[in-house]
Amino acid sequence: MGPPGAGKGTQAQVVADRLGIPAISTGDIFRANVANGTELGIEAKRFMDAGEYVPDSVTNRMVRNRIDEDDAVKGFLLDGYPRTLAQVDELDGMIRHTGHRLDAVVVITVDPAELIARLTARAQTEGRADDTEDVIRRRQEVYIEQTEPLIELYRERGLLCEVDGLGEVEEVTKRILDALDSVEES
Ligand code: ADP
Repeated sequence: MGPPGAGKGTQAQVVADRLGIPAISTGDIFRANVANGTELGIEAKRFMDAGEYVPDSVTNRMVRNRIDEDDAVKGFLLDGYPRTLAQVDELDGMIRHTGHRLDAVVVITVDPAELIARLTARAQTEGRADDTEDVIRRRQEVYIEQTEPLIELYRERGLLCEVDGLGEVEEVTKRILDALDSVEES
């Protein structure tokens, strides 16, 4: 977890590679569907372009299908899911069914000014449709309203690892791996 621009996608990929499990990024799956013009992509695009969350029903179904694939049997790292309280419940139900267990929830924290700077820079290099100033602001609001409350919930469950997202990519990766080690030990 972490606000837009915290570095979730970058870190998810590296950490999942180290752990030998797939990184499942809802944002990447949505973007691939948009690029391929699938029905799911067409449905998701109008929400993404506005900085809003795609409806839970659509997102949940997509994640359920993805974690049922063979490469996820031994485990997986979710990037960008769950983001709402309803998605938390849904994920609990899904993994009860597949027999997985939630080991840890990593939150990457970065201060708001740095986030805006990173996203504005990314807009110039990657040209993502949702990296315009208004949409960036809206995505931060939606994160605070809908996703931040999940941090306390996972803290209460004893799963939370908070990691400082400032610094070099490798430094942040090391912090995440160290934090995950300490969760395993406790
Ligand atoms: P970021 O975290 O930088 O905003 P992502 O690539 O993770 O970017 O997600 C891009 C967009 O995809 C989100 O703004 C949202 O519209 C949609 N999305 C991704 N994950 C979810 C989710 N779990 N629930 C609803 N919408 C989602």
